Formats: sequence, structure tokens, C-alpha cells
Amino acid sequence: MPNKGRLADEARELFIDAGLDIRARGERALTASLGDMFEAIFVRAQDIPEFVADGAADAGITGADLIAECNRDLETLADLGFGRCRLAVAATDDSGINDLDAIPAGARVATSFPRLARRFFEANDRRVEIVPVSGAAEIAPHLGIADVIIDLVSTGSTLRVNGLHEVATVLESTARMVVAKDRASSESMRALADLVAALQSVLRARGQRYLMANVPRDRLEDVRRVLPGLNGPTVVDIMNGGAHVAVHAVVPAAHVYRIVAELKGLAAEGILVTRIERLMP
Ligand code: AMP
Repeated sequence: MPNKGRLADEARELFIDAGLDIRARGERALTASLGDMFEAIFVRAQDIPEFVADGAADAGITGADLIAECNRDLETLADLGFGRCRLAVAATDDSGINDLDAIPAGARVATSFPRLARRFFEANDRRVEIVPVSGAAEIAPHLGIADVIIDLVSTGSTLRVNGLHEVATVLESTARMVVAKDRASSESMRALADLVAALQSVLRARGQRYLMANVPRDRLEDVRRVLPGLNGPTVVDIMNGGAHVAVHAVVPAAHVYRIVAELKGLAAEGILVTRIERLMP
């Protein structure tokens, strides 16, 4: 697992939400127990693909960008969705470079992703010189050591404050769980399949809410139109409920506002919306 940065924070939160507590062995421990089921090893995100490929760990969680740059034989078990960013070609605002065609032959490209950079420019038939840097590529054009850069972009604010703009996207990235091809034992693969299912059930649940409401029985057909879902909502009798029944449904979090307003229009009462911890369809 990544030892610091946003990937580390989000991975940690995901495991805790999946019920796998991370118990470090001491203040600066490099390993921890993961819910007593797994042993976590914390290393730099960029080292994780190599660790997994070499068999030092059965599985790893790191960015798709770093997995692609490493170029080892790894198989992705899950896209975890967080750590979303893109690897982009960027040029200084005063360079006049607004597309790939404007990058002159022999241009110097500073990047901490030299393999991906080389592959990208070859695929786009542009001859450039790659200048590997270990970080802070955005400074390189200002130091005169590069004409353009390839770096990770999330909000774009780092590029903006450094007087740079995006010219092209090399790849889109999110955090992935990977294993080494043909290396993992069938026993560890079984345990990892359960782990992936647990993590994915948490990720799936995050974008959904559980909605309950009491509605007049004679408005059920209208309620069915308001509440999405394959089979329509669950309808439950209420003890002494009179003309009302309770409806329950899983709804996208982004639709809750509209659905609640529409349910009120159908004379719904006692509307309750809660978070879901896990969702396994
Ligand atoms: P931003 O200013 O939000 O576009 O972020 C760009 C800076 O954050 C660059 O220095 C990137 O190297 C770094 N960055 C952004 N997203 C990620 C990510 N998912 N993983 C690692 N570094 C990132």
C-alpha cells in the first residue's frame, strides 16, 4: 500500500470502511495488520508495481500511471476509482504550443514518466528528447532544461500557477489493485477475490442512498415512476398504516434531491434517506 499522499489516505479509508482495520506495529512501522486477514506493507506508490511483480507482495494498490510506467507483467484486479488524474503534455503559456503538431522536432520533454513519454511521442510520430526528472517537472521549462513537460494533472492549478497549459492527454489514471501475472497462488487469489468484492461493495455503496417513505397506497404507480431501479421499490405494509404503505429503494445519491421533491408531490410522509455501508447486487 502507498505510504503517503492522497493515494495512501484514500486506500486507508477504503479498507477501514470495508471493515478491515489497519493496526500499525508501532509509530513508524512499515507493516500493519489489515483486519487480521492480511499483512500490509507500506512503500512509495512508485515502488509498488515492482514489489508486486517481484513477488514481495501478493497484491498492490497504486496509480494506473505508475503501473503503466513500470511496464511489468501485472494484472489489474480492480479499479478503485480514487486518485483520479491524467498524465498530460503541457507547454508554457508563452510558447505558442497548443497542440502536438506545434511541438518542434528535437524538443526536450521533462517528465518523471520517461517510458510513457517515449511511447506516447513515438506513437504520435514526433521525435523529441526525453529529460527524466524525479519530480516537479513543472519547473523544468522555467529553468531552460525542457520545452514541454509530461506530468500528472488533477485540478490543473499546479500547471496554471506555473504558467503552463495542457496540450494533450497521455493517459487517464485511477488507483488500481494489481497482482503479478501467473505468480499469485490460488490460495492468495481466493483471499484477494474476497477482498476485492468487499472493497467494491464499499465503493458501489458510496454513490447510493437508501430511501424510505410512507406513501398513499393509491399513488404506488406514480411512486414507481419516481423511484428508479430494475424491479421498482420494495413495498411494505405499515401496522395501522391505514391508506399508507412504506416504500424502500436504493437510489443514486445525485438523484436524492429530485426524488424527495417528487415524492412530496405524491403526498409522501416520513421520508428517510440514509447512507449505505456496502452494496452487493
Ligand atoms: P493539480 O494542481 O490538482 O492539477 O495537481 C497536480 C500536482 O499534483 C502535480 O504535481 C501532480 O504530480 C500531483 N498529482 C495530482 N494528482 C495526482 C495523483 N492522483 N497521484 C499523484 N500525484 C498527483
